[in-house]
Amino acid sequence: MGTIYAIANQKGGVGKTTTAVNVAACIAEAGYPTLLVDIDAQANATVGLGHPKDRQPNVYGVLSGEASAFDAIVPTTIENLSLLPSHPDLAGASMELPRQAGSEGRLRDALVGIRERFAYTILDCPPSLGPLTVNALVAADRVIVPVQTEYFALEGLAGLLDTLALIQRELNPRLAVAGMLLTMHDGRTRLARDVEREVREHFPALVFDTVIPRNVRISEAPSYGRPVIHHDPHCAGADAYFELAKEVAARG
Ligand code: ADP
Ligand code: MG
Repeated sequence: MGTIYAIANQKGGVGKTTTAVNVAACIAEAGYPTLLVDIDAQANATVGLGHPKDRQPNVYGVLSGEASAFDAIVPTTIENLSLLPSHPDLAGASMELPRQAGSEGRLRDALVGIRERFAYTILDCPPSLGPLTVNALVAADRVIVPVQTEYFALEGLAGLLDTLALIQRELNPRLAVAGMLLTMHDGRTRLARDVEREVREHFPALVFDTVIPRNVRISEAPSYGRPVIHHDPHCAGADAYFELAKEVAARG
């Protein structure tokens, strides 16, 4: 049975989607059948993998029970990497899901047969701890928490870990934190170095050794509809995501 990773942090702009797309691409490159599930209505991961954000069926249909995940999954231009695309309509799910009993298990149930087919499934979460992220955390085995290496980085992290513990206790005993990932790190600034030290001091066992540098190739890759390892395979950003994928696999 494959392993499901959620990429989650209630803050926006911390590198969730970038990490989801690039970790998925690195794992696929290593030869494992991999699925990226975009569960953010902004559909940045969908577009970042070269697909339009108005495709039918999509993850909204899957969550509302109108489509099967098997029908909604599409191939990407990358070998071994498939996508369950998002759609702007998914914004409505945040309102609809809480009104329906047991809806926090929708994604988990929809992925039951799917996880037999893919060695790894990566869930790109929206920037909130609302019903969509809860669905992802109920479906997932592991969570990766990207943390932008900026002032205020620590803010909200303790609360996020409390939420993860609550979900583990009440809804998904399998859930474990794979690690926190420092992103957009600018090694030239003292601030970035201070923040890195502080986050590592607060969460000694949790922070990945690999740090993702601030890298222009990473930020321009989505506009070409491809992950950075295909946009510029030898840049510092591609190297870092390869290293991270190895570290994630080694942590199990
Ligand atoms: P989130 O999904 O958490 O909202 P994104 O992955 O979309 O965050 O990243 C926010 C913005 O920062 C995007 O424009 C993305 O291209 C850019 N970005 C992410 N990681 C890096 C990086 N390591 N270096 C430079 N830009 C980055
Ligand atoms: Mg995102």
